[in-house]
Amino acid sequence: MRKTATVAVSAQVRRKGHKVTAQKSRGRRRKKVYYLLPLEWSLHYVMSDGEWRDFRIRVKEVIPNWETCNCPNGCQANTLDEIWDYDKRKHVKRFVKAQFICPGCHWLKSPGWRVQTWLKDESGFWTPPERTPHIFDCLGWTKRRVRQMRRADLEMYYEQLMLQDKREKEVKTGEATEVSWTADLSGLKKYGYSEIEISYFSSLMFLKARGKI
Ligand SMILES: [Zn+2]
Ligand SMILES: [Zn+2]
Repeated sequence: MRKTATVAVSAQVRRKGHKVTAQKSRGRRRKKVYYLLPLEWSLHYVMSDGEWRDFRIRVKEVIPNWETCNCPNGCQANTLDEIWDYDKRKHVKRFVKAQFICPGCHWLKSPGWRVQTWLKDESGFWTPPERTPHIFDCLGWTKRRVRQMRRADLEMYYEQLMLQDKREKEVKTGEATEVSWTADLSGLKKYGYSEIEISYFSSLMFLKARGKI
């Protein structure tokens, strides 16, 4: 379904001379630069099972009431959600913090996860849960609001697929070039990680962005 593990979140045309020496750029056509934010590009996807378990323990130590989600019913918070900040100017994805939330809230916060649900439903291979979904039961959303979110999610998804095709063609013809975002994991310090551990995880993020792991 997905051809590459990347999604273009911004496309910018660099002005002549930027990042290219003035001499080299003279007389050349502008080259379009796509900054790509890789999919599944987070600690959860680069850490081993053991590293992730250890991370969960460290977060629990910092947040004493980690077991209660912030949703109206204060549901059991047992999934770890990573909070990231996206610097769209510098193309840096910066780790801010992690927090435990309930699976229902986690699903709502994760566009990729939501799209997977909608696609499964459209394919007919998905059995809806027997009990009332959290989004109605706890969060009090109306069916209409969920339908609107679903439509917007799928529109965005198909639009990105189209953009991806266009981008790949442009890269092939040399009209455009792709540059990956970078990740800043210095926020892991608050969970007691050393500089060495942080640079190790940063190198994993680097490899993941290039599809090497
Ligand atoms: Zn809840
Ligand atoms: Zn919740």
